[in-house]
Amino acid sequence: MEYDVIICFETHAELKTKRKLFCDCSVKYDASPNSQICPVCTGQPGALPVLNKKAVEYAIRAGLAMNCTINRESRFARKNYFYPDLPKGYQISQYERPFCEDGFLEITGDDDQPYAVGIKRIHLEEDAGKLVHSSDSFEASDYSLVDYNRSSVPLLEIVGDHERNPLRSIQEARTYLEKMRQTLKYIDISDCLLEKGQFRCDVNISLRLKGTKEFGNRAEIKNMASFRFIMDALEYEIKRQSEILREGGRINQETRLFDEEKRITLPMRSKEDAPDYRYFPDPDLVEIEIDQEFIQKIENIMPELPDQKLARIIKEFGIPKNDALILTRDKDVSEYFGACAPLCQDRKRLGNWIIKELFKLLNAASLPIEECMVSPKDFSQLINLITNGRITDTIGREVLEEMFKTGGNPDSIIDEKDLRPIPDDEPLGKILDEVITENTGAVEKITAGETKPVDFLIGQVMKKTKGKADPKKVRELIKRNLTV
Ligand SMILES: [Zn+2]
Repeated sequence: MEYDVIICFETHAELKTKRKLFCDCSVKYDASPNSQICPVCTGQPGALPVLNKKAVEYAIRAGLAMNCTINRESRFARKNYFYPDLPKGYQISQYERPFCEDGFLEITGDDDQPYAVGIKRIHLEEDAGKLVHSSDSFEASDYSLVDYNRSSVPLLEIVGDHERNPLRSIQEARTYLEKMRQTLKYIDISDCLLEKGQFRCDVNISLRLKGTKEFGNRAEIKNMASFRFIMDALEYEIKRQSEILREGGRINQETRLFDEEKRITLPMRSKEDAPDYRYFPDPDLVEIEIDQEFIQKIENIMPELPDQKLARIIKEFGIPKNDALILTRDKDVSEYFGACAPLCQDRKRLGNWIIKELFKLLNAASLPIEECMVSPKDFSQLINLITNGRITDTIGREVLEEMFKTGGNPDSIIDEKDLRPIPDDEPLGKILDEVITENTGAVEKITAGETKPVDFLIGQVMKKTKGKADPKKVRELIKRNLTV
């Protein structure tokens, strides 16, 4: 029996507002525990929430980027449940009327075709605090402490639509998550750092018999913050569910946890339905009316989306699509390229040097491009020196390594290290003479009409000059000296 895989995400992204969602406390990641708190975000009796307008703007920005309808009337609701890091006993979220509904996020499907993955809704809610256990594992801990710094940090929840173009494979799930994260970073509303828990998701997965329309029961895997673990959990679930179904069993609609060590999912509890949370409109917060003018204002300042940037780089700078895809994958890289492009004569070479040479150095140093010491101006200058034949590729790489280490500019590094190319024919001719005397075999072959040994001789000259000769010039000299 063959099954279709149906995958759907509820993605949470922490918004990069300066202040929390309902109070003036600041959102600081590395602040000492309970230093960024007030009566509102610690749920003191009588304290009243006041909505952060910036968070609403960010939610609408996300809605526009994901082709949603922006609801003119919205409201917050209380989602009731108890947890030690949720001091009010409820979380302020949205239920009936979220800010954005019925959108899609376009990805490239496994069949290489554009695929508009359904987005059911995008809403705002507050984050909970954080429990800090006295030991690495909860079971081994003698006690746990609560840090409320994260309490009421604005979270954007993006809920996928499992009935409208859901994800159909593990690969598509990955493509979707990457595109989602890329989009949120491009529109500048979240840093989406996985290691800081700024981008995390709940994964829904079900199987259904190929060719049938009815959806199977779903398993939901909660609170995943690593792409690799998500892929592992999905792989395990597909295997588990298909085995149960093949044996004629039934999948329980339940919430499961991923065991990171064993790489398996385990049942946690049967899935809550909405009634379990007793949602009701939060009486402390007024209804929000969003007018067209406000939406238009946000639309006017919308940053460029990844697909728009990709198309522009291809069209405006003539970058091959595969290179353009790599250059736009990360917003910071695309901005670095964007800062260099107007200063460079050969943009294709520029793209190539970022992808091949700069990435190599960044990877080796585990450094993000925004912390790179090589300024776009200096990098462009280096590319122009190579483009104009003033230095060879080999010297270029050596100069770049030095620029990467010291932040110096290419001209002064070339001078300091005496890397200027050997300029005129005379010294180069002398070196070539040496090479000719040392390689009579190759010379004979060239005079007999073979072309391959020419490259060999050029290689020998480059070796002797430590890459400082211009290979084009050497080739000319060989032609002049050895062929009729
Ligand atoms: Zn506060």
